[in-house]
Amino acid sequence: MNDVAPRMIRKTSPVDGRLLVEIPMASPGEVDDAVAAARAAWPAWRALSVRGRLRRLDRVAELVKANGEAWAARIADDTGKPLVDTLMTELMMVPLFLRWYRRHAPRILRRRRARTPIILWPRRGWIEHDPMGVIAVISPWNFPFNLSVVPMLSALIAGNAVVLKPSEVTPITGEVIRELFDAAGLPPGLVQVVQGDGQTGAALCEADVDKIFFTGSVETGRKVMAAAARKPIPVELELGGKDAFIVCHDAHLERAAKAAVWGALVNAGQMCTSVERILVVDGVYDRFVELLRDEIAKVTVGPPEAHADMGPLILDRQERTIRAHLDDARDRGAHLEFFDAPDGGQFHPAVLVTGVTTDMRIWTEETFGPVVPVMRVADEDEAVRHANDHVFGLTGSVWTRDVRRGRALASRIEAGQVNVNEVVVSVGDPSLPFGGVKHSGIGRYHGDDGLLGFTHTRAVLASGGRGRTEPFWFPYADKYDDMRSLFHHLLDGRLVAALRDQLRLTRDP
Ligand code: NAD
Repeated sequence: MNDVAPRMIRKTSPVDGRLLVEIPMASPGEVDDAVAAARAAWPAWRALSVRGRLRRLDRVAELVKANGEAWAARIADDTGKPLVDTLMTELMMVPLFLRWYRRHAPRILRRRRARTPIILWPRRGWIEHDPMGVIAVISPWNFPFNLSVVPMLSALIAGNAVVLKPSEVTPITGEVIRELFDAAGLPPGLVQVVQGDGQTGAALCEADVDKIFFTGSVETGRKVMAAAARKPIPVELELGGKDAFIVCHDAHLERAAKAAVWGALVNAGQMCTSVERILVVDGVYDRFVELLRDEIAKVTVGPPEAHADMGPLILDRQERTIRAHLDDARDRGAHLEFFDAPDGGQFHPAVLVTGVTTDMRIWTEETFGPVVPVMRVADEDEAVRHANDHVFGLTGSVWTRDVRRGRALASRIEAGQVNVNEVVVSVGDPSLPFGGVKHSGIGRYHGDDGLLGFTHTRAVLASGGRGRTEPFWFPYADKYDDMRSLFHHLLDGRLVAALRDQLRLTRDP
């Protein structure tokens, strides 16, 4: 019997610091047991057709509909975020993604004929997508429901079992997810939730899993990738970002300013896709900053039940990073304007930062807080150059009334997703792959890639099997001249002659 007391997560409220709940962390042994239970449940799930799995997952959407508002309130307790955000950016993702996958998953995962080249006639190729096994999903605290449940559902649709390790910062949401899948009537053991911190996450990476889907910081992503490399198993990393928001001279400035403020301050700026670098061309810079100031002044900050626009910081120690970036920006000549926020709790005011330059930490590092940093650029070329001269490449946006030019500019931005005259919304489009370049990550989820990434591809090549031998098989004696002829006919693109060579080569000696 194991009589060592479990390590505990003490969850306090980001609004007022009161202790909300204490939740035991899973020990390494319990993590192994969870993985073993998921593995035992996997074969029956894998054996179902894609449509069969989707039918079973319908219940998940029904449960979100029935319990969504109650769960939204618990996620709001956990994070302090506004109830509108909890509904729209967390729970809404379930019906949105399930509906899209219900329609498209059978197509994405179907076995399909390969385009076998004529020279290989009469062979035929097929491509199949096989589930991987047990997927470890390790998620962060900023969108603790969405960033856990969307990859979990994707892995399940693709035919895998799942073990989730939610963030220790938001364990209440971890319990909501556990309840959701417990009530969904899926095969017992198929979906597991192990609560805990970094040690628990590390234990899950070491356990008998077949792929790790990780969302979090670059620093932890490196450790997760190293753990995956030791086995080796595939790993997907959804890491940080530093969204570049480019305002062209012909932008609809009022719309762009509203978008920039929402994109920078929604979820109190704790978002991998947060607008953290606003680049404005010289001719419209002053007017745009005025509009930003007006828009930020309207943003209300308060607890979830106040239906304010912005809640507190979810993670208390994030305040240190934000302060360090702001102090550094001020020291290097930026101008800071602080707006209203309640005292106490983990509330933080919105901050407009103008006169930003590329040497500032607020430019080079992810701030992950309610800051609105703005830089003046001479023109769009300079904006694109600065946007790309960065270690992160997750998202970006371009603002211009000329949509064609906007799309051309978007194609020059080194990021996984770029919006034109929109902000952040692409991440909520289930048809679009999501993920980053450079330090923002490896791999894509959402869209077709979101299912294929949880499969192994199997190639099958079949021939009628009627002839006694093949051109390349032994014996080699007496083949050289015909092989030379085949080689040159192939290089010259003379396929009929090459096929004739092959036929000659398969004749019995
Ligand atoms: P984090 O890296 O601190 O933690 C993420 C998760 O990893 C947590 O569950 C944590 O317990 C776990 N963990 C910690 N150490 C581990 C280890 N050694 N092995 C395995 N797991 C371990 O990140 P965070 O602070 O929770 O999240 C904020 C970061 O996430 C930001 O950088 C943000 O940009 C990024 N993020 C990225 C995306 C995206 O989709 N690209 C989305 C949201 C957040």
